[in-house]
Amino acid sequence: MSAQTEYYRPETVDSVCQMLDELTDPTIVAGMQSLGLLMKEGIVSPDTLVDINGVEGLGEIERDDDHVTLGAVVNHSDVERSDVVHDAVPVLAEAAGEIADLQIRNAGTIGGATAYADPTGDYPPVLMALAATIVSRTTDDEIERDAGEFFTGFYECALGPTELLTEIRVPRVGDGEGVGYEKLAYRENDRAVVNVASYLSFDGDECETARIVVGSVSDRPIAASDAAAELVGTEVTDEELEAAAAAAAEEVPVDPDPSVSAEYRQSMVRNLAEKTLRTAREEART
Ligand SMILES: Cc1cc2nc3c(=O)[nH]c(=O)nc-3n(C[C@H](O)[C@H](O)[C@H](O)COP(=O)(O)OP(=O)(O)OC[C@H]3O[C@@H](n4cnc5c(N)ncnc54)[C@H](O)[C@@H]3O)c2cc1C
Repeated sequence: MSAQTEYYRPETVDSVCQMLDELTDPTIVAGMQSLGLLMKEGIVSPDTLVDINGVEGLGEIERDDDHVTLGAVVNHSDVERSDVVHDAVPVLAEAAGEIADLQIRNAGTIGGATAYADPTGDYPPVLMALAATIVSRTTDDEIERDAGEFFTGFYECALGPTELLTEIRVPRVGDGEGVGYEKLAYRENDRAVVNVASYLSFDGDECETARIVVGSVSDRPIAASDAAAELVGTEVTDEELEAAAAAAAEEVPVDPDPSVSAEYRQSMVRNLAEKTLRTAREEART
């Protein structure tokens, strides 16, 4: 931070929105884990920081009959340890626990990680598989977006410059539903080389809804919608599940990576899609 940097610490969502409207080129500060690194390396040097850590109502995890709602500044450790999250959407706690190390998990926030839209992030594929809703505010509006339309490119999301991400609303995983998440990384808790989240819901023996979302192989997480659609109306037998995982690996474009071949990553997409579908099926049936 330079001596000229202006620093604000508003206490309400309304004041944040007003600042985003009125200040020149303001930058929101949440856990500072990614932003801090960018500033340290001189990649960005914001003149005006709006710290949202003291904003009323952004630090809570709440539950109703259908959803768990996580405020933007809930940190990864709180997501990982929350009884509410464990009970209603355990896969989200699992994903939070996969992020980096304890220090980063204690400071980094679910809103920051979502707004940052890191293509290797742990939350984005999970939020898409869960059909979560990302809620933001401007001075005039509250905007709700499906997670599936939120991540728009390489570190790019649908938020405009005057929008504050306020909360993430996640449907509770109920009876007959299951979700699996798997991450392949070089070392434990490192960034993902490939990560996949899959969701299945059943009506009796028949699959009603299926989603397979692949992260880290492209500029944003990609839903393998055609592959998932193959499962709908089936009983998701081993053969059907394996065929859908193979189809997902064919459907999702895999970008080249300097350290891992596209073929290897594609084979890992298939492998992780299969594993996550098995987990989702097992969870849905128990
Ligand atoms: C060494 C290292 C390893 C990591 N490993 C992983 C990993 O394995 N998996 C993983 O998923 N993540 C990983 N991360 C990222 C981590 O999850 C960060 O916590 C996250 O990317 C940013 O969250 P933050 O709260 O620190 O946001 P900040 O760094 O404060 O902000 C990040 C960006 O989001 C914007 N922003 C923040 N909050 C909001 C909001 N509410 N509304 C609008 N814009 C907002 C900021 O302006 C900034 O542009 C890693 C980070 C580091 C430094």
